[in-house]
Amino acid sequence: MAVQLAHRMASIKESEIREILKVTQQPDVISFAGGLPAPELFPIEAIDRVQHLVLQESGTQALQYTTTEGYPPLRHWIAERMNSRLGTDFDADNILITHGSQQGLDLSGKVFLDQDDIVLCESPTYLAAISAFKAYGCRFIEIPTDQQGMDMEALEAALASTERIKLIYVIPTFQNPTGKTWNLKKRQQLAELASKYNVAVIEDNPYGELRFEGEDLPSVRTFDKTGQILCTGSFSKIFCPGFRIGWIAADKELIRKYVLIKQGTDLQCNTIAQMVIAKYLELYDIDEHIQKIAALYKKRRDIALQAIQRYFPENISYTYPQGGLFTWMELPENASARHLLELALQSKIAFVPGGSFFPNNPKENTLRLNYSNMSEERIDAGLQTLGGILKEYLAR
Ligand code: PMP
Repeated sequence: MAVQLAHRMASIKESEIREILKVTQQPDVISFAGGLPAPELFPIEAIDRVQHLVLQESGTQALQYTTTEGYPPLRHWIAERMNSRLGTDFDADNILITHGSQQGLDLSGKVFLDQDDIVLCESPTYLAAISAFKAYGCRFIEIPTDQQGMDMEALEAALASTERIKLIYVIPTFQNPTGKTWNLKKRQQLAELASKYNVAVIEDNPYGELRFEGEDLPSVRTFDKTGQILCTGSFSKIFCPGFRIGWIAADKELIRKYVLIKQGTDLQCNTIAQMVIAKYLELYDIDEHIQKIAALYKKRRDIALQAIQRYFPENISYTYPQGGLFTWMELPENASARHLLELALQSKIAFVPGGSFFPNNPKENTLRLNYSNMSEERIDAGLQTLGGILKEYLAR
């Protein structure tokens, strides 16, 4: 190429998931790879009706520019929802509407990160958060994470080791990729440590509403006495991802900074999409809709875990997610999930090898399995085939 790119492009690589997803476009592939919601539950008829109503009642507003902050009734609904479900204390002015929660992550990079700053994250963590932050030239420290959340001693040791740490990025509820959920104590400890070391936390929570069992847990933000915890959220998994509407919730001074940065990025989110969602929330019962989604995913999680138990060898381990879209599997130490994927693709089965979810130290014997996007029959059949391939692979 004759043109000269920015230095940052040297660290930007093709996403492995996007590459695998290309293969999974073929209809005969059974894919556990993506993180796609079940399309049969998209409320298409309701959206059709609501969109008509919005255009009839307020067409000029819906097709006009709006404020960067976003459509006020939607911001109000989000604040109330977070307060009632997660125990936070937000009002509409604490909310900025973003282009999916993914944009909240990218804007956070712009707001917080200088070249060579450090982001602390769970090990493993969400792949596209790594990509979003990396574009701002940061480095990562992975903090070991068990069934209950981050190892707090390791977190404090990292925080005490350097002043370059600007962000702690966590997904405490039904994490991507592991499906794990932090306990209450760790949520509280995280808020205390963030305050002690003066570091901002991004609590990313796109899956929290999709709980199958167990008690809801409060947001880390509820333990925040110093305004350092920022929350990202999304309509992608409870409504549909195609509208690309999410949000960031934080102290008002911080939201102001995000608004300034977002103005230079895209001025605002899609006006009509925001108004359609707000109208849907006014006319329909989203709780009923979310219950349907959670019930379907629970059924699919149960089928997936039963199939793993039935068809997979005994020397593997996997997580038991209480909600969300994923389970995470560890193969014996010397096995390679990338190699397994090559074999699986020959039988038209796809999944994501876990290595790419670790910014520094990939554990190649891990993989992520999604169960939200396929019929129960295909989940069972696909895992039967994959279990067989894995047994053969390990026996070599
Ligand atoms: N955070 C996490 C942890 C995710 O898994 C995803 C993708 N599902 C996102 C953020 C981005 O989602 P969206 O932009 O659709 O809200």
